[in-house]
Formats: sequence, structure tokens, C-alpha cells
Amino acid sequence: KSLPVDEEKENYVRSVSGACYSLVNPTPVKNPQLVSASADALNLLGLDIKEIQRPEFIEYFSGNKVIPGSEPAAHCYCGHQFGHFSGQLGDGCALYLGEVINSNGERWELQLKGSGKTPYSRHADGRKVLRSSIREFLCSEAMHYLGIPTTRAGSCITSESLVARDIFYNGNVIQEQATVISRIAPTFIRFGSFEIFKTRDATTGRIGPSVGRDDIFHLLLDYVTEHFYPEIYKSHLDDIEARTAGFFNEICRLTGRLVAMWQCVGFCHGVLNTDNMSIVGVTIDYGPFGFLDRYDPAHICNKSDDGGRYAFSKQPSVCKWNLRKLSEALSPCLSTEKADEGLELYEMEFQQTYLSKIREKLGLVNKAFPEDSDLVEQFLDTLHETGCDFTNGFRKLNKVVLSHLNDPGHLEMVCDSLLDECATPDELVKSFKPIMPIHQLMMFASLGEQSPMILMSLGLSPEMIKNELTKINNMEKVKKTTVEEKRKTDRETWLTWLALYRSRLGREYTDDMEIDKLQEKRVEVMNNANPRFVLRNHIAQSAISLAEDGDFSEVNKVLQLLQKPYDDESAPAVDEAASSLNIEMSKYFCRPPDTALSLSVT
Ligand code: AMP
Ligand code: MG
Ligand code: MG
Repeated sequence: KSLPVDEEKENYVRSVSGACYSLVNPTPVKNPQLVSASADALNLLGLDIKEIQRPEFIEYFSGNKVIPGSEPAAHCYCGHQFGHFSGQLGDGCALYLGEVINSNGERWELQLKGSGKTPYSRHADGRKVLRSSIREFLCSEAMHYLGIPTTRAGSCITSESLVARDIFYNGNVIQEQATVISRIAPTFIRFGSFEIFKTRDATTGRIGPSVGRDDIFHLLLDYVTEHFYPEIYKSHLDDIEARTAGFFNEICRLTGRLVAMWQCVGFCHGVLNTDNMSIVGVTIDYGPFGFLDRYDPAHICNKSDDGGRYAFSKQPSVCKWNLRKLSEALSPCLSTEKADEGLELYEMEFQQTYLSKIREKLGLVNKAFPEDSDLVEQFLDTLHETGCDFTNGFRKLNKVVLSHLNDPGHLEMVCDSLLDECATPDELVKSFKPIMPIHQLMMFASLGEQSPMILMSLGLSPEMIKNELTKINNMEKVKKTTVEEKRKTDRETWLTWLALYRSRLGREYTDDMEIDKLQEKRVEVMNNANPRFVLRNHIAQSAISLAEDGDFSEVNKVLQLLQKPYDDESAPAVDEAASSLNIEMSKYFCRPPDTALSLSVT
């Protein structure tokens, strides 16, 4: 705990050593106005949704008033960002308000995000704008209803306070509305919370601000283990090493499970720094995240991630790297052997969860075969090769009917339906962005032959250049392909996979199971594993655009939709008026129109 910030106004942004947090009050906003609230999330705090009508609600949840009994604080943490130790970070725009024990006896931590400067704001303003707040608000809730562990969002409140963001249009800085969301989680403590004790980092030369403070380290470690891993704590009361190993094993398992779930719904986090990794294994910090539209394992959703460190397919290995960093931060009480054991558990848990979940997604519910992982691999390759939509590609496998497998037209029908989810040549060309213009690539290619060191100093390698040139070459071919030609090639690719799938499904039958019953079970399992609705960027963006014009109806409509992501096509639509307008509704479930493909998120 460090001094209340008000007493140190002169020295606001500073290194805070020997403390895990600083007391600081939220900064009020002008004319706060509710954009949206999540009834279920507020319920965790024991709040009924009706409470949002009360003026006090807006006052408290915008940070204009401090809830009686609350002692707001900003948490101090460090982090490895993009592979390098950054030193002190901390809640630069978020505030801890306190904890609530609800009527079920659960303890929930309540935070505001965007509520103003803290000692950890560094050069930024501690504010968030409407677009980033709506994205975090909606995605937190979307992830929850998808069944993925996550921090929750209770409310999104905008205001007439303006903040400058560096979007330039005609040379002007655009002012945006300061917006505050409330977030709820068992805790917001991160891997990075343990990195404030880090000794000098060999590469960056930075140190954790609380280096050497073993007393605080032990307080924090005890607190985390006792509160969030109570069974482990109780069973090793006098053995700190066993306790820490138990806690590390568990966070490895939880993280493995979490990442497997991300991969199964096509969720790309975008900023997997150690300060964005939760100590209780929930998804934390929704910034430039994205759900995959067209499947591309190399998809990068964060524009500032030039090297693709946090590309979709890298998430499992990067989270393991982050766990390694956590184990280093815990090293006073965790041996390298114990750390390695935990990391092995991470691998096992990831593989197990991923395979069992993806087997459900393919509707392989009755038996497991070792070859199943090959079938999965080939399915993903097919999605990639044909430029197929990830969410709808999986969802449409529910069209395969077991009793029709020998009907020659059946798989053709399924195939046609899948082909509707594949990109046209035009869409592929439009969304292709080479890392640099072709003439530059050619120049670097010849430069690389003469002096490879120059390439290396620019962070480029001959392979990268070669790959990129191949991609450009392929794109030239795609440009000349007609829609019909691509469809024909894709059809062959899909039929090849569907034939494999058919023979695998044949092995699902057992004598004692009637085929119709098995089919019913299959479809149920598949529909509960393959969401029909995910928060695609263009859907979030259309809600944001309207909200920026003062119309919050779309945010609320999307909030309703994401609460039932697995609902069947035949289920009643969100509201009466919309159910008669199927076309109106279909835009929420379709792959994005090609205008949305180049959509960038900041
Ligand atoms: P992130 O990449 O979102 O995890 O943020 C990295 C660090 O920057 C964290 O310490 C944040 O608290 C801080 N930060 C992000 N946005 C702001 C902001 N608008 N004002 C102050 N600090 C910020
Ligand atoms: Mg963060
Ligand atoms: Mg962030």
C-alpha cells in the first residue's frame, strides 16, 4: 500500500516501490449516461437489473461518486510485453473498488475501467473511449455465454467528457467520449503481479519496483493461494514449497483449459503479455481481440504486433512461455523441477481439452480413435485452403445426417452449403495485405543475398521475404481466377474431406445404438460446441457506430444475441418484430460482407 495519490499530486506518475497498490479515487465525468448493462453480471454483485434506473447507480458506476465503504485503489504490476520485461505497468486506467460477497457466499471483485489517471498511467490519460469500452463490455459477456472463463462486465456508461485520441482526419485530432465500464472477477491479480519483485532483467536492464521485498512477496503469494486455491492452501499449511507447486500446477491446468477453449471458438486475444494473464485462469483485458472470420492460423488481430508473436496459432505456445515467466517470478518458492512439472501439466491439459472439445465440434461423440486428430487437422487445412468461415464451417457440419450417409446426393448438399461459406477470389485479394510493397521485397531479397546481416538488423529473414513473395505470386493467380473456377476447386477439396468424414462417422455406430438416436445426440452435442453467434468485428463495429451517434439500441440487441450463442436456427429470434424479418436477423450469423474484411480495430 502506498500513500493516497491526492497527497502526492506533484509527483503523480511515478515508480511505486514496496507496494502492491496505491489508493486513488476515480475522476468524475460530465453527464454520465448508461449505454448498456448486463443483468446477469450485476447479479453477481447482488444487484437487480432494476437498480440501473436509480440515479445513484449511474453516479457510482461512472466513478462520479465513491460507493460508501469502498476504498478505491490502483493495482501495481509489471509484465513481459511482446517478449521483453517492461518493468512497472500497473492499473493505468482501472480501479479496484472493493469486493462484494453475494447471497451465494461468492466473493466478487468490482473494478471500474476508464475512470481516470492513476500513478501507473505513465503518459496516458487513464480514460477509455466509447468504442473500446463497448468492445470490452460486449466481448466479456460474449465469452461468458460461450462458456469460456472470463472477467465479466456489468455496465457501460459514457459521458460528455471528451478525450483526445490520435485518430487524424483532415489533420485534426478527433475528440471522443470518455466511457467507463464496470468489470467483475474473482480477482484481477495477474502473472505480472508477481513480477514486481523481479531482479534486473538481463535484456532490458529493468527491475521490478519492489525487488527485494520478500515480505510483500510472501504476503501476496499467501493471499493468492489462500483465497483462490484454498484446498491447496489448507492441505499444505506448513509447507510453502508444496503449496506454491500446488498453486502453480493448478494455474497451469486452468490456463491450458482456457487456451484450448479459445482455439475452439476462434478467439484471438491479441495482447498476451504476462500482465494480461489472470492468476485464476480467466480471459482478461479485451483490447484488439478478434474472433476469426475466415480461418487463418496465422491471423494477427493486433495491428501493432508486427512479428505476429500473438497470431492465432501461437496462443498455446505463448501462454506456456508466459507460465514460464510466472514460474520464474515464483522461483523463491518454486524449484525449476516443479516448474517443469507444471508446464507439462499445461501441455497435457491443453491437448486433452482441445481434442475432446474439437471432437464434440465434429460430432464424434460415441467413440474416440487415435486418427481423430488427423481428421481434425485435415478439416482445418480444408477450411484454410478454401478460405472458409471458421464459425459457420463448423456449425454447418450439423447438416450431415447419419442415416443419409449412403445417399449419394447428401454429402453434395452439405458440400454446397459449406461452399457458400468460402471466400470468393475477390474477397481473398481484397483482404490480402503484404508486409511491404513488392518492389521493396525484391530489393530486400537481393540485399539479403549480398549482406544477410542488414536483413537481420531490420528484423527480417530471407525465409520471411521468400514466403511473402510466394504469397504475392499466389495472389496474382487468385486475381485471375473466376468465382466459378474457385468454387470448382474448393468443391473437390471439400468432397475429399467429407469422404474421410463419412468413413469416420461410419465407425460411430454400435449395435445397441439406434442410428436416429445417435444422430439426435450428435446434433445436440455439436450445436452446443459450435456457436452460431460470435462477436465478429463487423457486428461490434455496427453497434459502435450507432452508439457514437447516441443510439444504444444496437449494443443492447447484440448483448441479447450473444447470451444465446448456441441457439438453433429454428429457435425464436430475439424479439417478435425481428422473427418475422429473417433477412434482418441473418446478418448477425453470416460471414462478414467483403466491405468488413478490411476493417481494422484500434
Ligand atoms: P494493456 O496493453 O491494455 O494491457 O495495457 C498496458 C498498460 O498500459 C497497462 O498498465 C494499462 O493500465 C496501461 N494503459 C492502457 N491504456 C491506458 C490509458 N488510457 N491510460 C493510462 N494507462 C493505460
Ligand atoms: Mg492490460
Ligand atoms: Mg488493454
